[in-house]
Amino acid sequence: MTTPTTPLFDTACFVGIGLIGSSLARAMRKHGLARRLVAFDISEKARTAAQALSVVDLATDQPADAVAGADLVVIGAPVGATDAVGAAIAPHLKPGAIVTDVGSVKLAVIRDLMPYIPEGVEFIPGHPIAGTEHSGPENGFAELFEGRWQILTPLPGCNEKAVDKIAELWRRVGSMVEIMDPHHHDKVLAITSHLPHLIAYTIVGTANDLEGHMQQEVIKFSASGFRDFTRIAASDPIMWRDVFLNNREAVLEVLQRFTEDLTALQRSIRWGEGEVLQKRFTETRAIRRAIIDAKQA
Ligand code: NAP
Repeated sequence: MTTPTTPLFDTACFVGIGLIGSSLARAMRKHGLARRLVAFDISEKARTAAQALSVVDLATDQPADAVAGADLVVIGAPVGATDAVGAAIAPHLKPGAIVTDVGSVKLAVIRDLMPYIPEGVEFIPGHPIAGTEHSGPENGFAELFEGRWQILTPLPGCNEKAVDKIAELWRRVGSMVEIMDPHHHDKVLAITSHLPHLIAYTIVGTANDLEGHMQQEVIKFSASGFRDFTRIAASDPIMWRDVFLNNREAVLEVLQRFTEDLTALQRSIRWGEGEVLQKRFTETRAIRRAIIDAKQA
């Protein structure tokens, strides 16, 4: 039986020590959840920063040096790098180790990583519903996951003790844990996260394409709504490229519905259907209130 002050792991290895990996490393250090923290990252900049900021005890470009002694391996690289990560770490995974990830898409990560998971190693996929528009270890912080949801999408037949241990890890860094089917995860996140990012990228891109003087005014008067979209549209281009390429079906499905709803609103504006617009805007206001009540605002 472990107490809240007992480390859950001996050595935790972060494969990709960027915003999310470094935030979890910081939180694990803060709460004493591992005796040793190490990282394997292909980016020299990330390794140098992670080590200089003492986010980890060792940051290396050699997967063997980082992974070999780890009883926990957290993959925090972009989801498009999963295959490369699997090939790099698989030969060094220690029997009994638990591998987890923080990728924003689950089916594609499971598809790309599972073939590399050796006998005696458990893979428990996960996704923290927490983040910012910034990247890199210099922008991570230990409190990122507090009060936020952590979704775990364990596969049928996996070791229940490993699931419990990963759930316990996230609870100890302040998250609430939900177990979900990976297919369902990808559909839910397509509407709550992926579509909003696509819309933000589109609006800001449209503004960027305007002629010079209009562009100046967009920046000058941005506080009238545009500004909130620019924050989302400043999110990491590689991460989001990979999300859309790896959750294609779910995003296209939800985008189809969104396009139909947008066309319906377009018609209402054209035909002066004020009641329809007001009804729609009243319904959406209630969603905002529900999010505030759930403390997820
Ligand atoms: P990040 O700050 O860009 O960090 C990712 C790090 O992984 C970078 O240092 C990157 O190096 C490195 N990397 C890339 N390929 C690698 C490989 N093959 N082996 C080892 N390291 C590799 O990214 P992040 O924002 O932390 O996101 C990481 C993961 O968390 C993504 O899967 C994302 O979907 C998920 N996520 C992000 C958020 C968010 O708000 N940011 C929220 C929830 C989940 P390079 O820079 O050289 O490529």
